[in-house]
Amino acid sequence: MRDGNDVHVCEVGLRDGLQSIQTFFPTDQKIAWIEAEAAAGMPEIEVCSFVPPKLLPQFADAKEVCAAALPIAEKHDGLVVSALMPNLKGAENGIAAGVHKLNYVTSVSVKHNLANVRMTPDESVDAFKKIVALRDEKAKESGRRVRLFVGLSTALGCTIEGQVDPDAVVRLAEKFLDAGADELAVADTVGYANPSQVKSLFKVMYGTFGDDLPLTVHLHDTRGLGIANALAALETGVRRFDASLAGLGGCPYAPGATGNIVMDDLVFMLEGMGMKTGVDLDKLVAVREIVARNLPGETLNGGLAKSGPPKGFVPASSFAAAAE
Ligand code: ZN
Repeated sequence: MRDGNDVHVCEVGLRDGLQSIQTFFPTDQKIAWIEAEAAAGMPEIEVCSFVPPKLLPQFADAKEVCAAALPIAEKHDGLVVSALMPNLKGAENGIAAGVHKLNYVTSVSVKHNLANVRMTPDESVDAFKKIVALRDEKAKESGRRVRLFVGLSTALGCTIEGQVDPDAVVRLAEKFLDAGADELAVADTVGYANPSQVKSLFKVMYGTFGDDLPLTVHLHDTRGLGIANALAALETGVRRFDASLAGLGGCPYAPGATGNIVMDDLVFMLEGMGMKTGVDLDKLVAVREIVARNLPGETLNGGLAKSGPPKGFVPASSFAAAAE
């Protein structure tokens, strides 16, 4: 976590958000987006996905985006640049691109994982072991060790299997930790969860792996409970959150559905509750303009941006001293 912050937030709009959007977001505009959020104090940005461009043309510029994001991160000390990698080839490209962190995703639901990557979750763990070996080998050569982050998707519900057994989440988490994952995320990929369910799953996770486990919650607002679920996670001790600016990102299985929880609203909630995120809300909300301009017709979500902060609102993070 960045020095002085109480909560670590990660912008996933450029990856999870753009992934389901057909309109190509121009490379220079992706970079402008990263630059503006870095200037707003965003501690981590998932900037792209190292998938074959044939599969997702949106990320055909992954290399260029990383090459631009890394100097921005250097300028904004402590900014973590992360990227998704679906497989060994993606990991190879991600490591070569020099990102700080690579994210791997496996569905807890067997049928969902089979549908998504044609592997059982256990087979995905085996594939991940090869990525760990590659990472370690490259770290020896370069002295630079990329962090490996594993997202357990459909951990709170699945469009194919319905309810997902919390024990299955714990068992899969354990396998990935044993295999060498540095961090884990629990994801409500399709927005099925409610706050009690979130609380009980995170209690089990912390109870099994200890409070020190770097555990992120990744929530979608498909059924309107995203921010309530974020609060539930916060109350069980979660201090790492994924979210996307303006709630960008849909769901391939639910046309028209809202995407990730809205970053601007999440930061508003946390800052209002006295928890420092290090993010300047005014600057963050202003970044929506870049998204709006490049995605005409796309619905931008978020209550704060629509209504503005309440009169007399005092965020927990103070920016007076940070002025350049
Ligand atoms: Zn997601």
